Amino acid sequence: MKCPFCQHPENRVLESRSAEAGQSIRRRRECLKCKRRFTTYERIEFVSITVLKRDGRRESFDRSKLLRGIVRACEKTGIPQLRLEVIVDEVESLIQQRSLREVTSNEIGEMVLQKLKSLSEVAYVRFASVYRKFQGIRDFVETLDQLQNNGDKIDNQENAADFSPNLEQSAEDSELQETEPSMMARS
Ligand SMILES: [Zn+2]
Repeated sequence: MKCPFCQHPENRVLESRSAEAGQSIRRRRECLKCKRRFTTYERIEFVSITVLKRDGRRESFDRSKLLRGIVRACEKTGIPQLRLEVIVDEVESLIQQRSLREVTSNEIGEMVLQKLKSLSEVAYVRFASVYRKFQGIRDFVETLDQLQNNGDKIDNQENAADFSPNLEQSAEDSELQETEPSMMARS
């Protein structure tokens, strides 16, 4: 790094210390030519990620936008907000680790679906319906089929209650109510 006073390229480090709550390292340097001192900061570089959208537009990766989409899909599923933020962290770090700095919105969507799959069927289908732009009931059916054929066990407890009423049982009950008055009349 060149000296800011005389542009000489060589200097020596007098002192290094952690700064900005550990987010950076502050170095006090002395120019080997003019002996003047200056300070440099070293930080981790977060490379910005470009998202290639379905319609061909490009925009920079937006954490809060992704989180909003996931929160919406998970409404009333009882999954804590913190867990959803972890999903965003995981997806972001997956993208950061790749050599390409461009990711398609499709790839992001599939990454999120992989995470939601083990958390909630409802959230999975809701998220898929938005990002895959479902056109009709057929799309829902196909997605549900994919879920079922996947072999991954999904926690079904919250959905089980919806399907528990026994239709045959309630039919018998109403039959019984109808026959009762005639039996009473006979006796
Ligand atoms: Zn200098």
